[in-house]
Amino acid sequence: MEREPVVTLTAKKTPITVAYGDGIGPEIMDATLRIITEAGAQLDMQRIEIGESVYSRGISNGIEDSSWDSLRRTKVFLKAPITTPQGGGFKSLNVTVRKTLGMYANVRPCASLHPYVSTKHPKMNLVIVRENEEDVYGGIEHRQTEQVTQCLKLISRPGSERIVRYAFEYARANKRPKVTCFTKDNIMKITDGLFHKVFDEIAKEYPDIENEHWIVDIGAAKMADTPEVFDVLVMPNLYGDVLSDVAAQITGSVGLAGSANIGDHCSMFEAIHGSAPRRAGQNLANPSGLFHGALLMLSHIGQGEIAERAHNAWLRTIEDGIHTYDIYKEGVSKEKVGTKEFASAVIERLGQLPQHLAPVEYAKDAHMNVAARAAGPRAAKKHVGVDVFIDFPDGNPDSIAERLSKLDAGGAKLTVISNRGTKVWPSGNPDTFWSDHWSCRFESKNSFSSRDVATIVAAMSDAGFDIVKTEGLYTFDGSRGYSLAQGE
Ligand code: NAD
Repeated sequence: MEREPVVTLTAKKTPITVAYGDGIGPEIMDATLRIITEAGAQLDMQRIEIGESVYSRGISNGIEDSSWDSLRRTKVFLKAPITTPQGGGFKSLNVTVRKTLGMYANVRPCASLHPYVSTKHPKMNLVIVRENEEDVYGGIEHRQTEQVTQCLKLISRPGSERIVRYAFEYARANKRPKVTCFTKDNIMKITDGLFHKVFDEIAKEYPDIENEHWIVDIGAAKMADTPEVFDVLVMPNLYGDVLSDVAAQITGSVGLAGSANIGDHCSMFEAIHGSAPRRAGQNLANPSGLFHGALLMLSHIGQGEIAERAHNAWLRTIEDGIHTYDIYKEGVSKEKVGTKEFASAVIERLGQLPQHLAPVEYAKDAHMNVAARAAGPRAAKKHVGVDVFIDFPDGNPDSIAERLSKLDAGGAKLTVISNRGTKVWPSGNPDTFWSDHWSCRFESKNSFSSRDVATIVAAMSDAGFDIVKTEGLYTFDGSRGYSLAQGE
């Protein structure tokens, strides 16, 4: 069949950085670049080396210093998977790149290809937009007592605004009618509560897009059962980490999904699978995951028309039963092909639309306005007390309270003692389990400051208490900025 001439959207080539990676990486990168170049992608590619060979030169994060210059210059990184060396002393390249270059949004489209790839969810077509930098992923952890460890969950207003706005802008640019937010704000009213509040605020700026919020547990259950009711989903980091893998898996093949890591300055595009070393060098691997990463890249750099052309040709190829070994199925597939032949089959179909699967339509000149808006006025912050956490192995709440009541706490008063978030004094429940980690809350109706914290800490320390941390209690514009203990 005669192919349409290649569409050239822009005469100017967009600079990108390309890494061929390890294992099957070079083969799937070759195939991907062949398809998108034939589709008309205008790219000025600079190649860098990452992964095994770099690790083996003793560079602990798998990327040479000189490669950062290329990433900062081009701001766009198409990356094949790498093999992470076994053993200690090595750092994750992905985490290093994501954190160093501030890639705050992880975007993962998950669409099923029924009946060509088996799935229980033939109508599924959703995109997970995961916050990529905050939440418990700061990795700020402490062991505080013999029995108790903690991990700090940080959710910021600017971080939440940025990811939620990205999700709405993505929905608008990609003609997706709904954005759903998942949080657990019935429990984490302050952290997840902020994320939800920001979602509701920003949703008002997008009256053309439907919005809804689900508590993450029932939302996740619904997504695993009836994913077709969702469209774009936005959520904090941890939920997004787990649920984006679930979503990819239930489309029927993790091997076909790509993902984007988006930052204000630099963005990275890749397959979600690894380097599959056992399949390397045999012309066996399916290039579709990286190809989907490349489609996200083309859309991101304003070459959506090329992405649409390549994507529709790929859908037609899948529909025509031209499959690599990993999705080949007797009775459904027509021809089992290698990596190169699969790429050639897609190239042959450029200009064609799928006949059974829905054709895709990319925004042609979408401009995503993710710039931060001016911050509102600062809230009036008032210091009203302190939680003092102690390591007290053989204590009971009444004896702790009795000892604390004898101390000079400035103008503050001991109001509650809790153990792992549950109130144990005053009027605790005898059935509550006590660990060796106690929180003693002092509150003041009058003026209170860090000096009063110091007074309380000094008095407690002199009395022999082992203080493992203090946490300031504040109100903001008169609203309490701290949680109550369960049972309070
Ligand atoms: P993997 O994703 O490489 O492979 C898992 C299974 O899927 C294997 O059976 C493999 O043969 C198959 N598979 C994966 N991609 C395929 C493709 N494109 N076509 C056909 N079959 C495919 O996971 P793994 O084996 O756990 O990890 C291998 C290496 O990849 C490890 O060193 C791991 O650390 C690394 N890894 C890298 C990345 C990345 O660079 N982003 C991500 C995940 C894993």
